Amino acid sequence: MMIELINVNVYYGIIHALKGISFHIDEGEIVTIIGANGAGKTTTLKAISGIQRIKSGSIMFNGKDISKSSATDIVGLGISHVPEGRRIFSNMTVMENLEMGAFLRKDKAEIKKDFNKVFELFPRLLERKNQLAGTLSGGEQQMLAIGRGLMSKPKLLLLDEPSMGLAPIVVKEIFEIIKDINKEGTTILLVEQNANMALQTADRAYIIRNGEIDIEGRAEDLLKDETVRKAYLGG
Ligand code: ATP
Repeated sequence: MMIELINVNVYYGIIHALKGISFHIDEGEIVTIIGANGAGKTTTLKAISGIQRIKSGSIMFNGKDISKSSATDIVGLGISHVPEGRRIFSNMTVMENLEMGAFLRKDKAEIKKDFNKVFELFPRLLERKNQLAGTLSGGEQQMLAIGRGLMSKPKLLLLDEPSMGLAPIVVKEIFEIIKDINKEGTTILLVEQNANMALQTADRAYIIRNGEIDIEGRAEDLLKDETVRKAYLGG
């Protein structure tokens, strides 16, 4: 197991957002967490990346409990979080945004290689490397957010709703790239409201409901499951 959450509880004041969540991801997998608005998907990613403290439980990453580690240390260990709504630096260029993703690294030659890798994955970013990020299209901004996430050389990439607000054709393109990133060796945890695309992309899935894991299984099985189809895939 690369990462394992064991009985994780998160509160926002009196709101019990994650109610004893347990799940795991093996190295090399694409796992998706799907669920309705407010189910706790984003909170799960924030708990893993150390942005949100957990009240109890543990988060084991390659055998080490990271639940009390700082967000910066967690990046250093190899977990990169691409947040919902992209959060790129609008007044910085594409290149500068990517540099920010490598802020913890000192290995200049390797960083350069990774710039090239990101530009291979996203040729559109190369064409626009000196453009201000705020002037990119929504799809390009999502590509930049993912590219920036890759610049920390993660073992595990956390993606929060990469399809949000994008046209279907762009969503398809982004999900193809997510598969490519995975094929090159990065394990992926994908949080999505677009259950259909997520299940078509992932190996396994967890469905979260009101802060609890409701259903889990192989993505291809869940795509065919009657209950899942009715509740999450529009019949
Ligand atoms: P969405 O798909 O709408 O982003 P989600 O599944 O990602 O939803 P979360 O953002 O994890 O859901 O939220 C889980 C619950 O925790 C919700 O009830 C939400 O209102 C609550 N919550 C999230 N962040 C905070 C916060 N900072 N303060 C108080 N409550 C919060």
